[in-house]
Amino acid sequence: KVKIITIDGTAGSGKTTIAKFIVQKLDFDYIDSGALYRAVGFIAKEKNLLREDEIVEFLSKNPIRFTFDKNTFRVFISDKELTSLIRTEEIGKYASMIGKMLKVREILTSSQREYLKNVKKGLVLEGRDSGTIVFPNANLKLFVNANINVRAERRAKDLGNISIDEVKKYIIERDKQDINRDIAPLRFPNQGYFIDNSDIGIEEVYDKILSLYLK
Ligand code: C5P
Repeated sequence: KVKIITIDGTAGSGKTTIAKFIVQKLDFDYIDSGALYRAVGFIAKEKNLLREDEIVEFLSKNPIRFTFDKNTFRVFISDKELTSLIRTEEIGKYASMIGKMLKVREILTSSQREYLKNVKKGLVLEGRDSGTIVFPNANLKLFVNANINVRAERRAKDLGNISIDEVKKYIIERDKQDINRDIAPLRFPNQGYFIDNSDIGIEEVYDKILSLYLK
């Protein structure tokens, strides 16, 4: 039977690093659900579609699609690849706006569940609602957080051309929105495990996860 590991948590907490490490070690499939919300956010910005019904209509004509191959997660809308265009804090802000739209969430949630049909061994799903809504019966549900300064530093380093203080403002605002929204708010999953990713290395995190997973 296919195994599922979900990883939810705050912005910049290191979910992706943990997810990719597990995926490589266990040879699992991977979905970065944040990339899906970002891709829709990108379209909302580019096409100036700010209402939920406009976005739903657009997606019905231009479906979202994603692949995971050779350790690379890629996202497409209407066959246009958006993977490299969505990694800015500005698009993150649009993604957070999209995250409040129930009908859009339903579309993205179904596409994640649908993907499971093609998974052979196991799946790591990363996001904000992975263990609470998309796969509440997952084998292992993680919730990751880290100190705000550590998160801002890491993200600023990843993004390059943005200051730590600016990143900090963006991620604080995004967390606030993700936690306080009415629909699918960021929550600790039932029977989940908390990982404080402030100052432990990936090997140590992985060992901990493995011991939980094999339990
Ligand atoms: O994980 P990432 O930072 O790429 O996610 C960007 C934004 O997309 C989040 O801040 C959140 O608002 C939204 N999101 C969501 N549900 C998910 C994944 C992301 O609402 N499962």
